[in-house]
Amino acid sequence: MKIICIGRNYAKHIAELENEKPEEPVFFLKPDSAILPKKMPFFIPTFTNEVHYEVEVLVKINKVGKHISSKFAHKYYDEVGLGIDFTARDVQNKCKEKGLPWEKAKAFDGSAVIGEFVVKESLGDLQNLSFSMKKNDVLVQEGNTNSMLWQIDELIAFVSQYLTLKKGDVIFTGTPAGVGPVAENDILIGELNGKKSFEIKIK
Ligand code: MG
Repeated sequence: MKIICIGRNYAKHIAELENEKPEEPVFFLKPDSAILPKKMPFFIPTFTNEVHYEVEVLVKINKVGKHISSKFAHKYYDEVGLGIDFTARDVQNKCKEKGLPWEKAKAFDGSAVIGEFVVKESLGDLQNLSFSMKKNDVLVQEGNTNSMLWQIDELIAFVSQYLTLKKGDVIFTGTPAGVGPVAENDILIGELNGKKSFEIKIK
């Protein structure tokens, strides 16, 4: 499987990183080796001094598809979840300065937290999904999919022009504002529609 991550999909997050608003979705990949095994802590890698959390709504692809129209995109996923796109922000900033790819900053081991998936019907309107994350019991990120620049179905249509989507692939749909650093012993708890989706300890 592959992990497709959307960047810059919430206007307020674009502003906080002083990025330009893109004309089309930005995406990058994480390999399956980036998935943080269930119940494992996240170990801050030695090559970075600034790991940021980015809480994101996830979509799990349920069948193979290419050139999917946004009208039919809903047939390609049954489950939605919540996760973290861990980012070595200092490394990413250097990559950006030099115009280099982001893999060193985004695709490292443990950088993809994938919480519990739930059947999409149980979540109601997917274009009005609230989600949040607490760090050590303090609310640090709060979002709603109604603020996405591109909705889930549009993202699937866009990405599938370039990549064949396969069963089991996961799309990270972008982070809202409020990204920030993690430190040893932090505890991150994510909630989707008020229900706990993951709990991660930082080591
Ligand atoms: Mg992200």
